[in-house]
Amino acid sequence: MRVLVLTGAGVSAESGIPTFRGKDGYWRNLDPAKLATPEAFARDPQLVWDWYRERRQRIRNARPNAAHEAVARLAQRTDEFLLVTQNVDDLHARAGISAQRMVRIHGNIFVTRCSRCDFSEEGRGGSPEPPDVPAVQPQNKRLRSIATTSERDLNVPTCPECDALLRPGVVWFGEHLSRNKLERVEDFLDGGACDVVIVAGTTATFGYIIDWALRGSRDGAQLIEVNPEETPLSQFATRLVREPAAIALPRIVDDLVGAR
Ligand SMILES: [Zn+2]
Repeated sequence: MRVLVLTGAGVSAESGIPTFRGKDGYWRNLDPAKLATPEAFARDPQLVWDWYRERRQRIRNARPNAAHEAVARLAQRTDEFLLVTQNVDDLHARAGISAQRMVRIHGNIFVTRCSRCDFSEEGRGGSPEPPDVPAVQPQNKRLRSIATTSERDLNVPTCPECDALLRPGVVWFGEHLSRNKLERVEDFLDGGACDVVIVAGTTATFGYIIDWALRGSRDGAQLIEVNPEETPLSQFATRLVREPAAIALPRIVDDLVGAR
């Protein structure tokens, strides 16, 4: 069986990772869709880092849910399998999907990379994340302004190679997808028709998600959409499951590969 799975924020929502859309996604009354941009980072890198630091912490504390586990089980039972996820968390990986069978099309929140050169590093620990702001503020006004400057420097890490600002290794709104990752998806789509395409927990607002889903299911494959709400892809689906991914996916995977 040849299977393509596309997942989005809805799959991680039940692990407590807020989606960008809706009230839950707001952070300090700010719209994440406006924070996750090159413009926001250029204007206030510390604010953007503060937000990503909180998101990293939330993801470290989260656990894969039944949807992640179902996708991992499907990957194990399938000869030819590719997961393309829009999620920058590591919950699919922690559920057991190997890097070879997954394309993280919007990057990895635990990667920190240079905003100018090719420097990049990955780690789920503290470093290279910027440290917390020191709690003590000096009384003297002049000292305070000096301290504020150095705190700002501390909170926005800089590149060990070229000294430019480091940034999270994710794709922001308005940025291009990585060519290398696009090629991996294209290679899979060119490699043969799928038997099943599952699209779960994504509003499918990006044209490439719809394009891949339709190309993957071109020769009469099942196209299963899992989403509580209608999306632009719904009209093309051969099966619509209007339920949260953590409820629907375990059952769908049981149907496809057996319950054991
Ligand atoms: Zn650099």
